[in-house]
Amino acid sequence: MKTAKIASALLALAASLVLSSSAFAQDLGPRVKKLADGVYVHTGNGFDSNSGIIVTSEGVIVIDTGQNPIESRDIMATVKKLTPLPVRIVIDTEPHGDHTTGHFVFPDAVVIAAAGGGESMRGADRAAPNRIQTMAATSPAMKTALEGYKFITPHVEYRDKMTITLGGKTLELIYMKGVHSESDTAVWLPQERVVFSASAFVVNQVNILRPFVTIPDILAAGKMMKALNPEHVVPGHGTPGTTKIFDDGEKYYALLTQRVDALMKQGKSLDDIKKEVKMPEYASWGSQDRMPTNVDAAYKALGGRI
Ligand SMILES: [Zn+2]
Repeated sequence: MKTAKIASALLALAASLVLSSSAFAQDLGPRVKKLADGVYVHTGNGFDSNSGIIVTSEGVIVIDTGQNPIESRDIMATVKKLTPLPVRIVIDTEPHGDHTTGHFVFPDAVVIAAAGGGESMRGADRAAPNRIQTMAATSPAMKTALEGYKFITPHVEYRDKMTITLGGKTLELIYMKGVHSESDTAVWLPQERVVFSASAFVVNQVNILRPFVTIPDILAAGKMMKALNPEHVVPGHGTPGTTKIFDDGEKYYALLTQRVDALMKQGKSLDDIKKEVKMPEYASWGSQDRMPTNVDAAYKALGGRI
């Protein structure tokens, strides 16, 4: 009788332990994934931006502060579930608002970006002085999340490369020229073999290729990141995966360039090429309205003048 009681008590204890550990795992929510010891990704909804959370024994490093301040606060809540330590460093993989507006949620962190990040942010702020009010008007939740908003630009800007060592973790920041913005950074964790690839490559989505972005630069960045031999690739937007993300991007640009080339050889104008080039293999990708910017880039890569 007594033994049975003890056994059932032990069973109940074991069951509660199993429950609490699974409850803890679920606590981080379905959008937070552990990639390696102390390395987490907070994935964006749909095509929203991804963020990295690197937990070290001396504090936390956050890579990109989320699509918007609602997301930033969710990232901060995730950090608090993982550790009582403060967020000491924020790294910007790019300066655009969908990666940087939420910096104010991490007020004690030193913000680090590639050279040009601050200038890009200040330019965007001047061009859209009402953007925070406009954002606050989108929903009551957004208005609440924006309380205490402050415009925070990078405190430290590096050129080419930078190494951060904090609490036993090493992060290598590598500047990527001409891949998406004026200031793109790949973040490589050599011990954990995780690379945050910025928006040089996105997943299942046509990327926007601004006039200073070139296809050769994007392909060079893909080659550079593949050579690091990462186990995990976290793109700026889209589901994290492996180096297949780079392979898929390479295939897409090769096919686009080949088709634009064929039309150029028929003597078509850039405007005609934009109307005629078809990429049915990628019809399911999001943001098809960005295709003309991709055609421009392919045309230029082939020696066409715009
Ligand atoms: Zn961007």
